[in-house]
Amino acid sequence: MLRLLICVEHRENRVSPAVLRLISAASSLGESATFCLCALGSRIEGLAQKVCRYRAEKIYLVDHGNLEHHDPRVMVRAIDAVVCEDKPDVVLFPASADGRDLAARLAMRKGAALVSNATAWRVENHSLVVTKSVYSGRLTAEIRLPKEGLKIVSLRSGVYPPASLQSFESPIIHVACDIPETSDDWEYVGFASPSDRLQDVTEAEIIVSGGAGLKTKENFQMLHDLANRLGAAVGASRGACDAGFQPYSHQIGLTGKTVAPKLYLALGIDGAVQHLAGMRHSKVIVAVNTKREAPIFQVAQYGCVCDALEFVPALIEEMQRVRCQSPS
Ligand SMILES: Cc1cc2nc3c(=O)[nH]c(=O)nc-3n(C[C@H](O)[C@H](O)[C@H](O)COP(=O)(O)OP(=O)(O)OC[C@H]3O[C@@H](n4cnc5c(N)ncnc54)[C@H](O)[C@@H]3O)c2cc1C
Repeated sequence: MLRLLICVEHRENRVSPAVLRLISAASSLGESATFCLCALGSRIEGLAQKVCRYRAEKIYLVDHGNLEHHDPRVMVRAIDAVVCEDKPDVVLFPASADGRDLAARLAMRKGAALVSNATAWRVENHSLVVTKSVYSGRLTAEIRLPKEGLKIVSLRSGVYPPASLQSFESPIIHVACDIPETSDDWEYVGFASPSDRLQDVTEAEIIVSGGAGLKTKENFQMLHDLANRLGAAVGASRGACDAGFQPYSHQIGLTGKTVAPKLYLALGIDGAVQHLAGMRHSKVIVAVNTKREAPIFQVAQYGCVCDALEFVPALIEEMQRVRCQSPS
């Protein structure tokens, strides 16, 4: 049986939603794996309470004043202390910027096998088989990790649903270790939270996503209007982000976010393999494109060959009409 250690990413005493999806990914291995959680930081006792009912065997806490700010060089030492205590087969990180940074540093420190940006995994003949996109999303590779030795994986958790609460309460283990102060050549300046208040695409059940076909930033505003009415998040292709229509934090695809909403509305998006790599697991895909041969239609359940700039206002108008007619 594989023993997994999941690193709990958090900020300002809030657990990242990705952590619940990683727990789901761990649970998807069924009887083949058990998992523990590991949280690092300063004054994080309250944090442990937030993750203590997700069926983890144990929750390791490294609570130390020198872990107040995110300094990966210091944090990796704390994770190493937990690894020495727990002796897991696999350490799992979210494939966020921080998670990938720590995963690579831990792999170097421990001389461990590393797979970053994985999209799925399974156990086969007692070995972990990890899937990831390669060659700019044109191919999917399956990597069989060695049975022996420590393995480190950072996982794009978007395709796994958030784990649900369980009745079992996990025991909390405090791990003491020497954490040096951040050295002189490193200065913590501060954390800038994203300025936009847009809904996180990785957590949305409906995504209204636009591409370069929307042509201007002003036209993109109608997507925000539609998204507000649907309670949806606004996503974008890289074409749209490169053009400045939407921040990169909302880019979907190989170098953006991986999402699996119930409904993905692709407006003026061509459907390049790199975009499909981030959204093809959506339950229902609706594509609107002026070009009948656009590859997005190959993954869409519903398609409309028309101008998105006409489609969106017409859809909003129809939604208003239906709302006016329905009894309040
Ligand atoms: C290493 C690498 C990583 C990458 N990572 C990503 C990634 O994470 N995400 C990503 O999206 N891309 C990524 N790309 C870029 C990707 O290859 C495409 O260039 C990009 O997805 C194109 O964006 P687009 O579909 O919006 O633009 P375009 O390719 O310009 O397509 C625009 C589409 O809009 C249609 N259109 C035009 N006008 C209208 C209209 N009025 N109404 C309706 N449809 C209209 C056109 O027919 C066309 O299909 C990556 C590329 C590389 C090499």
